[in-house]
Amino acid sequence: EIHPQSEEYKGSVNPIGIRSCYDEGKRVAESLCFDYQRIHNTEIRVARIFNTYGPRMLPNDGRVVSNLIVQGLKNESMTLYGNGNQTRSFCYVDDLINGLIKLMNGNIHGPTNLGNPKEITILELAKNISNKLNISENFIFKELPQDDPLQRKPVITEAKNKLDWYPLINLDQGIEKTINYFRNL
Ligand code: UDP
Repeated sequence: EIHPQSEEYKGSVNPIGIRSCYDEGKRVAESLCFDYQRIHNTEIRVARIFNTYGPRMLPNDGRVVSNLIVQGLKNESMTLYGNGNQTRSFCYVDDLINGLIKLMNGNIHGPTNLGNPKEITILELAKNISNKLNISENFIFKELPQDDPLQRKPVITEAKNKLDWYPLINLDQGIEKTINYFRNL
């Protein structure tokens, strides 16, 4: 058994857990794409998209960036799941879309990571957003969802080397733009 606090657990996927439909669904989609390529010569590209955020997210989407911004704007407590020490690496939507376009126009055959490698804890994110909204920190800690990964950080060497792609918008700029969007909504 893999211990939830171990290094090994951090990036692992539970094949029968509550997220497994989602996790394994993405994997089987990749396998099927490669079968189509082999059998029918279908032209394929496979992107592995990491956490992405930005304007036009739905306020009730449930993702952490939209939740925290919307809660902050409404003067509600920000919901942090677990102790907030789990990490994610957030990519601004425009960067991600440029990556997808380059991937589509490019010639990489294997699965390609697209995301922003700058890693941050959820607690740091909540502090950052509170700061930008100019409100005092008001967090409520809730139970960590089952099989919530402790760490997410894409290795994007391949996209950098073969597509000359890397994210240009840093988290501060991206969060500002996203806050402005939700403010006007
Ligand atoms: N999360 C949180 N508060 C929220 C929504 C999410 O603390 O209101 C946490 C969630 O448990 C996870 C991280 O933020 O550890 C990212 O969650 P999200 O659903 O945005 O993306 P994913 O889990 O798919 O990486």
